[in-house]
Parts: sequence; structure tokens; C-alpha cells
Amino acid sequence: MKENWESVIGLEIHVQLNSESKIFSNAPTKFGSNQNLQACEVDLGMPGTLPVLNEKAIEKAIKFGVAINAAIAEKVGFARKNYFYPDLPKGYQISQLDDPIVGKGSIEIQLGDQEIKTIGITRAHLEEDAGKSIHDLFENETAIDLNRAGTPLLEIVSEPDMSNSDEAVAYLKKIHSIVCALEISDGNMSQGSMRCDANVSVRKKGEKKLGTRTELKNINSFKFVERAINFEIKRQISVLEKGEEIVQETRLYDAINNTTRSMRSKEEANDYRYFPEPDIIPIQITSDQIQRIKNELPELPDEKKERFINELGLSEYDARNLTYDLELADFFEKTLVNIDDPKLVANWILGDFSAILNKFDAEANNSKVDAVKFAELLTYLKEEKISGQATKKVLENIWENPDLSVSKSIKDLGLEQISDDNEIEEIIEKVINDNPDQKEQFLSGKDRLFGFFVGQVMKESKGKANPKLVNEILKKKLV
Ligand code: ADP
Ligand code: MG
Repeated sequence: MKENWESVIGLEIHVQLNSESKIFSNAPTKFGSNQNLQACEVDLGMPGTLPVLNEKAIEKAIKFGVAINAAIAEKVGFARKNYFYPDLPKGYQISQLDDPIVGKGSIEIQLGDQEIKTIGITRAHLEEDAGKSIHDLFENETAIDLNRAGTPLLEIVSEPDMSNSDEAVAYLKKIHSIVCALEISDGNMSQGSMRCDANVSVRKKGEKKLGTRTELKNINSFKFVERAINFEIKRQISVLEKGEEIVQETRLYDAINNTTRSMRSKEEANDYRYFPEPDIIPIQITSDQIQRIKNELPELPDEKKERFINELGLSEYDARNLTYDLELADFFEKTLVNIDDPKLVANWILGDFSAILNKFDAEANNSKVDAVKFAELLTYLKEEKISGQATKKVLENIWENPDLSVSKSIKDLGLEQISDDNEIEEIIEKVINDNPDQKEQFLSGKDRLFGFFVGQVMKESKGKANPKLVNEILKKKLV
């Protein structure tokens, strides 16, 4: 970013709650059924139908509120937000305006080894989702799938507390890990179970007043959030540097071309002619109910992180990265059942194991190498039966050939480490005999030639000699 500008970001995150039925009807919410089979007459607002509030949605929203230490409303009322759009045939969305179920709260994020930053959460409210417009199914025509209509959403609105795309992604990841830990959503971003609108503005450094913002709609991956925000910051700065003004509007991020384009000018709340939803009476939430939910909270990501640090001796950095992704944290703990070396396991999970998940576009819970096998592999490494390099090769090999055992893979690839003193001694003697000049130079003070000998021994053993033993024995022999 150009030096004299700073950016400000606030996120609105839509989390699809994982209830079995819709928020105001008993139609199913299952993902992936055939089009237009899961919206019932209530979801479509047919005359003569009445919505009935799903208790589970209320519970799940309270769970989230309690987890972020937010105030929970005593009275929860709904409001009608009126607008017309093809994917909203009933002409209004039931949402919340003045009494959101979750009030002010906060979460903490941390980047690298920077200080912890608190991000304020303004509110989180319940609402129903709309249907989906599908633009790429028929040429020049748009199809509408109403299955999603009425699916319960929790919209989490942040304060404009983030200063760049990295912080926005860290915040989004933290929210993701919290809703997954609470099991109130499956958190599946590619299926749209969690999507976010990023509000972005820029201002001159030192300026107190916020700049005019644009809102980037419906971004559904961590990577796209980062790219969309970065693109938009650059665009706004260049507009302002030309002496022009930012128009407050809703923009779409185009992932293919990595650009944003205007979608519509920004509506104000009064454009929606909100009024209290007459078909649902406000409900009362009791302190007993809140207390019960508090008592039943599972371990939250921050608590897990502290446990990994205090009980397993992980670094803050490793613990944080493992607990961003609960599946990874789970895989980590499952691996530890069979190998008691948290530091080693954390290193490998965050390093090569994550890399292989990435490469094959997989998640820890559908890994081709399960935690038991992974622990077995790391045990070979820990007992110095194979080298680190060899461990990587075996990991790839058993990933690509799930039926292969660790021991068979090591044999097939010829990677068994040589840890036999005599065998290594023999190789070392041969290398020393083959390089008399270097030996002479080493003995007359050229210390760095030690590395040359290590290298030659490793080469001679085709990388299989145990490096620790090679070092030890070489020191004895090079005299
Ligand atoms: P709306 O519902 O119309 O989008 P809100 O006032 O609820 O409006 O704000 C939505 C989001 O925009 C919030 O997350 C807030 O933090 C963020 N936001 C508001 N003003 C700015 C700004 N100037 N720059 C960046 N983000 C902003
Ligand atoms: Mg908005």
C-alpha cells in the first residue's frame, strides 16, 4: 500500500446454522438435493401460511454469543426486511433489526509474533437465507433454486477494527474455528455454509474519520477474502489519488479476473421498510437457559491453544496454527495417542502433512494417511530408522498408495536408514582412503572440510546413513 494511506475493514459473516429443518418451517436443510424440492409453502410465504420459530436456531445463536462473551438479549424479536429479488419470491426476508439475539462481544486475533489484537463484534442476529440464482446453467437465462430459502443464518457483524487483509483473514479463521468447535455450523465455505461481505475503506494516515466504504458481497474462501480486499484497497487509493470520490456501493469480487465490479448502489436501512414481523411474537430468553448453555460449552479454540501450550509444551505459534483448523488439531491429538512427542508431531502436521493436504486438496478428516499410520511413520523417524528426507518420501508414497504399509513403503523405496556402527565405519574408512588430500588439509586446520566428508559419506550411502552416527564416527576417524 502507498505509504500515506491506511485501510479499514469490517466484516459481515453469514454462518449457516446446521439445524435439520429451516428456521421458520419444517422443510429440510440438507445440502445437494435436487433443485426446488426443499422449499415448502412457508419458505415461499404463500398466503395462509404462518412461520414457526425453530428453537434450535435460538440455542445455536446463544451458544455463539456466550462463546464470545457477548450480552444475550432478554427479548428476541424479528423484523421484516422488504425487497424484491428473483431469489426471494415472498418479497421479504425475516431478519432482526433492533433486538439482535447477540449483542456486543469480541474475539482476539494474532498475526505472526505480533501483539494480540481485539476485534469488536457489534452484534449477531438470526435471519433466513434466500434462494440462489444460478447464472451458468443455461445460456442467457438465469435459473432459480429455492432450496436454500428459509435456511437459518447467523449474521455476525464486526466493528471496523481490522487494518488489512491479513487481519481480516485471521478474524474470519477465528470465527470459523469457533463456530466449528461449537458445532453450530459445518463451516463448509465452498458449499456456502459460511460466507462473508467485506466492507473496505481507506483514509489518509492520521485521519480520524472513516472513509467512504464499499461492500464486497458473498466471498466464500479465505484466499478470495484476502485477494478481494487487497484489490479493493488499491482501487480506492487510485480513485482518490486521481482526485475522484469513492461511491458507497455494493461490489462483486470476480475471482477469475481478480477484480471487483459495481453491483448496485448501497441501500440504506429505510429502503427496506423494516417493520416488526407480525407473525412471530417476540420470545423471552431466561438467564437459566443462558447458564445451561454456558455450562455445556465445549472446549473453545483459545482454550485448546492454551492447553497445547501448557500441557503439551507447544510454542504459541504452533498451538495457534493447529487450533485454527479443528480437524488438524484433532488429527494432531489422535496422532499423539501413538507417539508421545507433541513437538515433533506438530512440526510435521504443520509442515509436510499440511503441504500434502494442500497438494491433494484434502482435509485432515479425509486424509489418505490416518493418524495411526502417521504416528507409525513418525516413530520410524524418531527412532532414527529413517531420515527426515526419507519420511517425506514415504508420506507421499503411502498417501498415493493407501494400501501400502509404512514398513513396506520404506522397503520399496529402499530408504531404511543405516544405523549400524560397523557398516557406517566401513563407508567412512573408504571415503577417507579415497580422499587423502582432503584429509591432510583437514588435519592441517581446514575445519570446514568436515562437511565435505559428511557429504561424501552420505552420498556413498545413498542418503541412508544416520547423520548423527556419521558425525560421531567421522570425528573419531579423522585423526
Ligand atoms: P450495512 O448493514 O448497511 O452494511 P452496517 O452499519 O451494519 O451497515 O455496517 C456493516 C459493516 O461495515 C460493519 O462490519 C462495519 O464494521 C463496517 N463498516 C462500517 N463503516 C465502515 C467503513 N467506513 N470502512 C470499513 N468498514 C466499515
Ligand atoms: Mg452490509
